[in-house]
Amino acid sequence: MRTLLLSDIHANAVALEAVLADAAGQWDRLWFLGDLVGYGPDPNECIDMLRDKAALALSGNHDWAVLKKLDMEEFNPEAKQVVNWTRQTLGEAQRDYLNGLPPLIIEADFTLAHASPRHPVWEYILDMQTALENFDFFDTPYCLVGHSHVPALFELHDAAVLNGYVAGAGEVVELGLRRLILNPGSVGQPRDGDPRAAYAVIDQKAMTWTFHRVVYDITETQRRMKALKLPRRLIDRLAQGV
Ligand code: ZN
Repeated sequence: MRTLLLSDIHANAVALEAVLADAAGQWDRLWFLGDLVGYGPDPNECIDMLRDKAALALSGNHDWAVLKKLDMEEFNPEAKQVVNWTRQTLGEAQRDYLNGLPPLIIEADFTLAHASPRHPVWEYILDMQTALENFDFFDTPYCLVGHSHVPALFELHDAAVLNGYVAGAGEVVELGLRRLILNPGSVGQPRDGDPRAAYAVIDQKAMTWTFHRVVYDITETQRRMKALKLPRRLIDRLAQGV
């Protein structure tokens, strides 16, 4: 069984299309780790593209903000602006689909949480200490998270995190040796300095997790955002991958 892992699509349909084309033939099921909407220009299109393909899908903090399940106090002004625009733009069927997604799912050896197992829509796992604390909040061998938009891996050895790093394109991680928190990175708005769309594939026969990156037409996403008068800063950051 090969699982395609996607997270943080953020209404970037051009990036999602590029990922699905690049990953074609490499997966048997698709899991999505949350934040389908927010930031980008194509919320309805992204929901329509993902809905029929995803065997499991989570909601993220931007999805919750659009659904008014979450206060936007901690959102920056640009993010808030796009949440408001998305509320007006979303179709009824698309809103219903988002509304049905949970922020955390446990499936066999995997705990899936948008942000962290401790705080499923809130917490960023970006450092060793936060990762270490979160190993106490799930019982499965593996926890899969998104939210930070940074492809990363944290390994637990003997009740202390000995290793954690930002993963590069093409990196292959062997599974079955230790407990792991894994983040495939973001499809629609990468923040590790590499603007290419990020995804991962788990191969449970080979017992591997592989980090992937794919070039997409960033200028086309930016063109759509400009046409909709979405915030300048959100348009610019796509080209920088920050
Ligand atoms: Zn996100």
